[in-house]
Amino acid sequence: MAMFRFERYYEPKSADECVEILKKYGTDARMVAGGTDLVPKLKNRVLKVKTVIGLQSVPEIKGIKKTTDGIEIGALTTLRVISKSEEVKENWLALAEAAGHVSSMQIRNMATIGGNACNASPSADAVQGLIVSDAIVNIVGENGTRTVPVIDFFTGVGKTVLKEGEFVISFTIPAPKANTGATYQKFAIRGDTDITIVGAGSSITLDADGKVEKAIVSLAAVAPTPIRVEAVEKLITGKFLTEDLIEEAGELAADSCNPITDQRATKEYRVEMVKVWTKNALREALKRAKQA
Ligand SMILES: Cc1cc2nc3c(=O)[nH]c(=O)nc-3n(C[C@H](O)[C@H](O)[C@H](O)COP(=O)(O)OP(=O)(O)OC[C@H]3O[C@@H](n4cnc5c(N)ncnc54)[C@H](O)[C@@H]3O)c2cc1C
Repeated sequence: MAMFRFERYYEPKSADECVEILKKYGTDARMVAGGTDLVPKLKNRVLKVKTVIGLQSVPEIKGIKKTTDGIEIGALTTLRVISKSEEVKENWLALAEAAGHVSSMQIRNMATIGGNACNASPSADAVQGLIVSDAIVNIVGENGTRTVPVIDFFTGVGKTVLKEGEFVISFTIPAPKANTGATYQKFAIRGDTDITIVGAGSSITLDADGKVEKAIVSLAAVAPTPIRVEAVEKLITGKFLTEDLIEEAGELAADSCNPITDQRATKEYRVEMVKVWTKNALREALKRAKQA
């Protein structure tokens, strides 16, 4: 692999073997799942590692399994499989939407849910589907498995809580409560093939009176990590989600984030788009919750 200048390629057959290799080579090793983030970095020499570990032969890392209370999605499951799964579309529509908003079909055929999370881009789309679905990240390391709520998985741009020798094996996603509606809305100038300028996720659970019992409001591309907008969640919980409250929520979401200016949008434009897309996401989640 002279083009990419790495020296060793491993394909471990078990999680334990994978952990051993990761430990042995430390920061000089990287895993490859779909390769859509990693390979361009290696090719452009943005990242220089000598050891690459392919994950495809680790058992139980691929596919969607039903659990007693929800589903478990293997880290190596492609975004195309997730976006097309009838099971996911039926019960976790926001996750299917978020996975389906990642670029083109060609990318989604290769890109994995584990790669989307572990690449830890603030603009990652599929991650937003995990956040509004209240997913738990299952991490394997030398001391066995540990779990982390997905919102606590990210620590900075390209950074996660993963320690040396650890990798993500799967995501556990609980079944949504009754009367829950959720959505992920991506805003990018050239549609899904473009990187997100602002992404907004929302999950609304209504109580018997039609008031908001539980809310998750999340944003992409407005901070160093994906974020939940707790101020908005608190504002709307226990209340009827009226159009006036949605307007207030949009303003509060804009006050709660601190985006940057980059080649795609200025900070000021992003703040305006946070208002628009938070409101859009809340309206759609509410509509779906009423129909659930
Ligand atoms: C043309 C193009 C367009 C794109 N558009 C979008 C877009 O619109 N939205 C979006 O969100 N992303 C986009 N991306 C980024 C990318 O496709 C996604 O982030 C994708 O989900 C990454 O998954 P992967 O399996 O290809 O990851 P890989 O490239 O294989 O890995 C990414 C990183 O995660 C690590 N990793 C992978 N799996 C694990 C694991 N199980 N445990 C620990 N570490 C792991 C790797 O070591 C690497 O550092 C785009 C990429 C390209 C090339």
